[in-house]
Amino acid sequence: MQATQYDLIVIGAGALGTFHAYHAAKRGWKVLLLEKDEKPSDATVRNFGMVIPSGMSQGKWKEHGRRSMEIYKSIQAEFDITVRSYGSVYLASNQTECILTEELATLNEQEGYPCEMLSKEDCLVKYPGLRASYCQGGLFFPGELTVEPRRMIHHLIAYLREQYKLSYKPNTLVKSIEYKTDRCWVETSGLEKYSSTHVILCSGREFKLLYPHLFAKSAIEVSKLQMLQTTPMQEYVLNGAVLGGLSIRRYESFRECPSYEPLQAGEIDTVFKKWGIHVLFKQAQDGSIIIGDSHEYADVNSTDALGYEYKQVIEDIILQEAQRMFRFPHWNIARQWNGFYAQCKEKDIFHHQADTNVQIITAIGGKGMTASASLAESTIQKLFN
Ligand SMILES: Cc1cc2nc3c(=O)[nH]c(=O)nc-3n(C[C@H](O)[C@H](O)[C@H](O)COP(=O)(O)OP(=O)(O)OC[C@H]3O[C@@H](n4cnc5c(N)ncnc54)[C@H](O)[C@@H]3O)c2cc1C
Repeated sequence: MQATQYDLIVIGAGALGTFHAYHAAKRGWKVLLLEKDEKPSDATVRNFGMVIPSGMSQGKWKEHGRRSMEIYKSIQAEFDITVRSYGSVYLASNQTECILTEELATLNEQEGYPCEMLSKEDCLVKYPGLRASYCQGGLFFPGELTVEPRRMIHHLIAYLREQYKLSYKPNTLVKSIEYKTDRCWVETSGLEKYSSTHVILCSGREFKLLYPHLFAKSAIEVSKLQMLQTTPMQEYVLNGAVLGGLSIRRYESFRECPSYEPLQAGEIDTVFKKWGIHVLFKQAQDGSIIIGDSHEYADVNSTDALGYEYKQVIEDIILQEAQRMFRFPHWNIARQWNGFYAQCKEKDIFHHQADTNVQIITAIGGKGMTASASLAESTIQKLFN
């Protein structure tokens, strides 16, 4: 039996769990963060690392994105967690997409979120290698951020241990959570027991270990994404995260634009729809370009059906569209990988009170790197009050 009595135990050291640990520890709580793997290695390290509130619907999630940017920057000012002010641009490939970017610009101007319309010529100057045959104009968000997904979370945990005395235990799989005798009790597969006032479970796409019956009845689904990364291009600079016309059709923010409905009715190639492909780029700190992505879906009860294999057919479609957009110095691929995230079909996140003082918060979908920092802040604020 462990002697330490924690205020909060967080299970899962992805972005959601670690930011919950951050906000609680910052308030002076005694916090234990438990992670089943040697290092967190799921969605939080396999993504683009784009922190782009511009892609989110107006209101709650956009606000979480904006607040998260402040949180990222405030931590970065004290400790390097790989945050860069990078900006992001949506490139329109035809007249309808140009109209949508103008409409989104108006919405953002109305609420004072900085953005800038770019002409075709502006885009061609700003983004070397961009093909004039593709780009008809762009909408640029200068303040948006990027992080290095393979490193950010490890740096954040190191910062929390150093600055806020966070207790962190990797290689620690939690197999049960129970509320009894006025406390929460967490037991690991190594039969260690820890107790705390509160538990927050942020277990990503793991649904078989804890509360399997609850998850089986949930409206959660898992998305499998395919990504690739070039070898470094030291001589080339990509000025910001780049999202093309397919992202304009996919992102929540554009759905609120008056011209979105007619756009959905027309033109899109079914091969993009079949694999859920839209094409995004960002340049990592080493000069390589990360390119993605695709989306295949499976219900929470059949996630194994997604498989682990990387599909060449998807890569070919992504690269074909990428090369229609850009002429990079080279297309040498250094690595390819799959990423998976959970999302909720009926809600924007899965948030459930599983027991007294035990909350499950997961299935944040494709917005976890953008919104987790602020979402976690609001959860902890409510607990604190
Ligand atoms: C390819 C890809 C690209 C993406 N790009 C972006 C982007 O550019 N911008 C953006 O905002 N979002 C992006 N996302 C989404 C984002 O990555 C996710 O929303 C976010 O990482 C989810 O974080 P999480 O903490 O919920 O889950 P995870 O990162 O999956 O973390 C959950 C953790 O819980 C641990 N765990 C589970 N069960 C237990 C247990 N019983 N005991 C102990 N530990 C446990 C797991 O090992 C894991 O480390 C992308 C996602 C993918 C896959």
